[in-house]
Amino acid sequence: MITINGLHKKFDKLEVLKGIDLNVEQGQVVVLIGPSGSGKTTFLRCLNALEIPDQGKVSLSDVSLDFNGKINKQKLLQYRRQSGMVFQNYNLFPHKTALENVMEGPVIVKKEPKAKVAERAKILLEKVGLGDKFDYYPHQLSGGQQQRVGIARALAIEPKVMLFDEPTSALDPELVGEVLKVMKDLANEGMTMVVVTHEMRFAKEAADEVIFMDGGVIVERGKPFQIFDNPQEERTKRFLNMIQ
Ligand code: ADP
Repeated sequence: MITINGLHKKFDKLEVLKGIDLNVEQGQVVVLIGPSGSGKTTFLRCLNALEIPDQGKVSLSDVSLDFNGKINKQKLLQYRRQSGMVFQNYNLFPHKTALENVMEGPVIVKKEPKAKVAERAKILLEKVGLGDKFDYYPHQLSGGQQQRVGIARALAIEPKVMLFDEPTSALDPELVGEVLKVMKDLANEGMTMVVVTHEMRFAKEAADEVIFMDGGVIVERGKPFQIFDNPQEERTKRFLNMIQ
C-alpha cells in the first residue's frame, strides 16, 4: 500500500531526512517514534507530499511520484488524495461547523454533490462519537472532540491510507483516550495507518510495526515487543530509557 525509496529532504543546509525506505502492507499500522527533531513530522509530510522531498520515490496505493524527476501537478494532487492527514493542532476551519469541516474536502477538492457528501459526513461524525455535534463550531468543542472531527474530515475523502502526526499531543491528558479509541477502532477495521506519536501504550497495543527514527534515519524497526522489550541498537535503548 505504501512504498518509499531513498527519501531525502533538506531545509537549507539542514539535512532532515537522510534516505528513508519503508514498505507498509494494506491494513498495517506503523507507529513512528523517536526524539524530538529526528525528522518524524517531516517524513510524514513528505509521505503525503505536503512537503516536497529533494530525492526519492513514493507510492500510495497505485499512484507513484518520483522526486528525482519533474513532478506533474495533476499527479501530485491525485497522489495527495490517496491519504488523509490528521494534524497535531486539528487544523479545523474555525468559521465552519463540524459537519461543514468534514464536508469541505469532498465538496471542494473532489467536487462531489453536497447532499451526498452531507450524508456521508454525518455517518463519519457518528462513527467518531459526535452524532450530536453536527452544528457545533470548533470553539464549542473540546480538544478531543475537535480532533475527532479532524479524523472524520480526513476520512471523508475516502483515503487509502491515514497519516497521524502526533494527534494527541496537544490534548489534556483526560482527552487522549477518546481519540486513541477512535484510532484503534479504525485500525481494527483494517485501515492502513502511519502514526507519529509519543503514546507508547498505543504503539504497544495497536502497532503491527514500530519504527525508531533518529537523526533523519530509521535506526531500528520491528514488532512492538521487539522494540520495547528487546531493542538491539544503543540509540533505541537510550531513547526508551529516557521516556519509560
Ligand atoms: P520531529 O517530528 O521528529 O520532532 P521534525 O520533522 O519536526 O522532527 O523536524 C526535524 C528537523 O527539521 C528539526 O531540526 C526542525 O527544526 C527542522 N524543520 C522542520 N520543518 C522545517 C521547515 N519547514 N523549515 C526549516 N526547518 C524545518
